[in-house]
Amino acid sequence: MSGYDVIVIGSGAGGGTLVHRLAPSGKRILLLERGDWLPREPQNWLAQSVFVDGRYVSPDTWYDADAQPFQPQVHYFVGGATKLYGAALYRLRAEDFGELRHHDGISPRWPISYDEMEPYYTQAEQLYQVHGARGEDPTEPPASAPYPFPAVSHEPRIQQLSDDLAAAGLTPFHAPCGVMLNEANMPYSACVRCDNCDGFPCVVHAKSDAEVAAVRPALEHDNVTLATNAKAVRLETNASGTAVTGVIAERNGEEETYTADVVVVSCGAANSARLLLASATEQHPRGLANGSDQVGRNFMFHNSQAVLALSREENPTVFQKTLGINDFYFAGKDFDYPLGNIQMVGKSQAPMFRGEKPGETALAPQWSLEKIARHAVDFWLSTEDLPRPENRVTVTRDGGLTQIAYKPSNREPKERLYHQLKSMLAHLGMEHDHLLGRHLYLKTDIPVAGCAHQAGTCRFGEDPSDSVLNTDCRAHELDNLYVVDTSFFPSIGAVNPALTAIANALRVGDHLLERMGAPRAG
Ligand SMILES: Cc1cc2nc3c(=O)[nH]c(=O)nc-3n(C[C@H](O)[C@H](O)[C@H](O)COP(=O)(O)OP(=O)(O)OC[C@H]3O[C@@H](n4cnc5c(N)ncnc54)[C@H](O)[C@@H]3O)c2cc1C
Ligand code: SF4
Repeated sequence: MSGYDVIVIGSGAGGGTLVHRLAPSGKRILLLERGDWLPREPQNWLAQSVFVDGRYVSPDTWYDADAQPFQPQVHYFVGGATKLYGAALYRLRAEDFGELRHHDGISPRWPISYDEMEPYYTQAEQLYQVHGARGEDPTEPPASAPYPFPAVSHEPRIQQLSDDLAAAGLTPFHAPCGVMLNEANMPYSACVRCDNCDGFPCVVHAKSDAEVAAVRPALEHDNVTLATNAKAVRLETNASGTAVTGVIAERNGEEETYTADVVVVSCGAANSARLLLASATEQHPRGLANGSDQVGRNFMFHNSQAVLALSREENPTVFQKTLGINDFYFAGKDFDYPLGNIQMVGKSQAPMFRGEKPGETALAPQWSLEKIARHAVDFWLSTEDLPRPENRVTVTRDGGLTQIAYKPSNREPKERLYHQLKSMLAHLGMEHDHLLGRHLYLKTDIPVAGCAHQAGTCRFGEDPSDSVLNTDCRAHELDNLYVVDTSFFPSIGAVNPALTAIANALRVGDHLLERMGAPRAG
């Protein structure tokens, strides 16, 4: 008999949420997490600790296509990347589930429709307590329920920005936020509305991350066990290679083997691919579930740009991530291809500049960085990057090293989105030059190390020859192996990925409950 009914490897948006879904079934569930609980400490909210010292970034070294080492911006904790995320919890657009023609090629159709995912998006919004306002975003897909909580209000400078954008003919909207803010009753609000949210852990546990929203409630069930500091290194199979029989994990310097009827991998897109590739056997010589040679391929992480403009007036906004613009999601002015999404990012603080651009800012006197930060209005621009087979995660033959080859796509729409925003600044109360007197605004490109939105290495599909997983996210080639992190994405769209990973985990959870003969939770 197996030790557990289900083992889930990785406790982030996908794995943590799945365990939450399975927990009430009474089935014996083991959640393996390579990291520990993220410590609650004053440094959670210190920009210096988080952005400059990289206190919560994994010490991993990965390698790019030229074998150059880099430190990936990944976070190994209970709750995974969501511990640091900005909690902008968007649904993909309905059109993202179909085939979309982009400047550089086709963003492929998903094997399930938006309508099939919709009920799970609604449940995901409820579980992660999303605040938002339906009907404002012109690209918003249909929803079967309102947001469970009202939109987070704009502070005055962002309200002004919203008004100016509307006056310029655009349709800004209140961004969907997973923060437990009760503006109607602040003395009882868990969230205190601070300026240390996007990219920081929440010391008061008021951000809807996977630890708070999913893992902790799941652990209230006696049938759920969490093993921290347990890094899965290999999966073993039966002799015919049709089922996983053991999960080998490193814990306290020893290798331990865990067994279960069903094994779910949810280590994040790069690490899930790594685990499967490192588990090659005679029956799966190219890596587990990799007969199609698709494991590790189609790695995506968004063409993201963090840009800051300088407001003519000071921008004293505390919680800035309340506004989004999707007017260019499907096309630009005089450009028939999608450009992407514009949203706000956490408010700049002077030490962040030293963290993000240490070379350029080393000579800048601190006072000028502080002045820039006071006037900064910070935007996050996302353009879809296309799934390309040559953009891939590989591991060395001995399983020791992770290598990521990645060449960007859709650079033209990315540039156009940037220039679109730039061209509007004069109408938005922004300065044409900033206090350092060099550029209109500082611009930070996100290199491959900034893989916050990583996705796509084990895509799901109907055809086993060009996908890794079937539509239930079960490996085509193994009867009891599933993957529920963002690896399953066949395309990434241009909005933040976490809510889709969460919704899909709930969907796969229902499938697993049915498979195990347990009643559905939803
Ligand atoms: C700074 C930052 C800001 C972001 N902001 C947003 C946002 O505003 N909105 C949004 O939608 N998305 C955002 N994201 C992205 C979002 O957090 C991810 O898309 C999401 O967490 C992905 O979920 P996942 O389950 O695929 O992986 P993760 O959440 O990363 O979970 C993977 C888990 O697996 C564990 N693990 C890895 N390898 C192993 C192993 N071998 N054995 C055991 N455990 C293992 C990891 O420790 C981790 O806990 C942000 C990310 C970052 C880093
Ligand atoms: S804004 Fe709210 S949820 Fe975000 S870190 Fe601050 S208290 Fe936590």
